[in-house]
Amino acid sequence: MLNGEKKIARPLRWGMVGGGRLGQVGYKHRIGALRDNTAFQLVAGAFDIDPARGKDFGVNIGVSEDRCYPNYETMFAEEAKRKDGLEVVSIATPNGTHYEICKAALHAGLHVICEKPLFFTSDEVLEIKALAEEKGKIVGVTYGFSGNQLLLHMRAMVEKGEIGDVRVVELQYTHGFNATDDGDKVNAAQKWRVDPKIAGPSYVLGDLSTHTYYMSQLIMPKMKIKKLLCDRQSFIGSRAPLEDNAYVLMHYENGAVGRLWTSSIDAGCMDGHRIRIVGSKASLEWWDSKPNELRYEVQGQPIQTLIRSMPYLDESCNADERLGALHQEGLSESWSNIYLKFAIAIDAKMRGDQETLDTLVYPDINAGLEGVRWIENCVRSADQGSVWVDFESNKEAAL
Ligand code: NAD
Repeated sequence: MLNGEKKIARPLRWGMVGGGRLGQVGYKHRIGALRDNTAFQLVAGAFDIDPARGKDFGVNIGVSEDRCYPNYETMFAEEAKRKDGLEVVSIATPNGTHYEICKAALHAGLHVICEKPLFFTSDEVLEIKALAEEKGKIVGVTYGFSGNQLLLHMRAMVEKGEIGDVRVVELQYTHGFNATDDGDKVNAAQKWRVDPKIAGPSYVLGDLSTHTYYMSQLIMPKMKIKKLLCDRQSFIGSRAPLEDNAYVLMHYENGAVGRLWTSSIDAGCMDGHRIRIVGSKASLEWWDSKPNELRYEVQGQPIQTLIRSMPYLDESCNADERLGALHQEGLSESWSNIYLKFAIAIDAKMRGDQETLDTLVYPDINAGLEGVRWIENCVRSADQGSVWVDFESNKEAAL
């Protein structure tokens, strides 16, 4: 159980690029990083594309005025001159900026925590992965839902064979908030999401389904996709070629099959984010809208609801517990859990503690690479007329 006591020797000096006053995701980063005051200290930022607004915002959240910078280039250069300069930076800007900012941060000697989808292409990720290795730095990816600790109980149950052999994987991340194009015209965060120059080769496949795909890999690390078929649509025509709805069929190497539905036009749906794993003995089902509960369904027996924090859960799951079973946890604690693991990974990297790095379960650059490859494969399949594509070789698969 976590109680705020330190897990690393001292808090890391942390800064942000983006995540300013009008940014959607910036506060989630700060909730995650600053939860316990023992992992990160926010000391600097280039918070906004508008320098004046960024400075005003930074000062209002407690950053010294002289360390609220007009842009990330100035921040990296000025912070490098200080003895107490930045050690790690989070990137919470639109997708199309991640690669350049990440590269500049690594060249400035910083560890990086970056938003998803990491970059546009897997070649870019491989290049940055090599650069991070050369510089001895961590690159973490904020799959923000993946810190929900019941996912670790699912992982333990699958590993121990408690649901038998996995046969079917059902993934869904849908909502209805963009069922019309109203937001595309007036909402800054929605405008760039449907612009391929800034969003990249996909909309909901990258924006939503990369989360769910990573979470499925967290639960079933040994389950590799052999081939997939994707069918994507732009129900709001002006969003084409970017999809606002997509279906993906998956075949796994172990013979299991899977299906993912992602959509932002699921009208009326407030949060359709779920993972169902069907094994030969039993099934597990988790919904983001009920993060404190895990359904465990054994064929022929009454359905069980496993509750967060109870002693019958796996040790790995309860190690991330904060509030106790009487109280509800959710997205804030999930972000706090992944940020704490980023801090532990960075600290281990700084100390050369390879054992910790080898055993820590958190979304690292390999998770970011998998997410980008997921998008690439989905887009390649869909754009060839929804054909099966081989996941590893990125070639058309023999049916
Ligand atoms: P947004 O448009 O709401 O906010 C972007 C922020 O970045 C704004 O504050 C903007 O001023 C700032 N910005 C843009 N370019 C900048 C630059 N060059 N330098 C400094 N600041 C800059 O976008 P958002 O919805 O917050 O999304 C940002 C990223 O976070 C995207 O990659 C998105 O996919 C991701 N995201 C992730 C989650 C999650 O759960 N992990 C949730 C939402 C968004």
